[in-house]
Amino acid sequence: METKEETRYCRQCLLMDQAREGREKLDKYLSIIKKQDKTDEREYLRRLDLCRKCEKLVDATCSSCGCYVEFRAAVKHGKCPNNIW
Ligand code: SF4
Repeated sequence: METKEETRYCRQCLLMDQAREGREKLDKYLSIIKKQDKTDEREYLRRLDLCRKCEKLVDATCSSCGCYVEFRAAVKHGKCPNNIW
């Protein structure tokens, strides 16, 4: 019988410390955001804390909008689709 290998993500950790491939992809996305468009670190962490507690967070993705929350939160003018941040 063939078994399917599943990749599991921790809701609490978003993508951090998860699959290296996911981390590399995220770092690549983050690197293309212009400096003037980046959320400052304190606000970024605040947003991610709110996402971690949100029931819409599934596999590092917001189930309301389909974005990787770590990317959405990193864009200064990014908005939570449910106005949580
Ligand atoms: S972006 Fe908003 S709705 Fe989506 S997971 Fe984060 S807090 Fe929840």
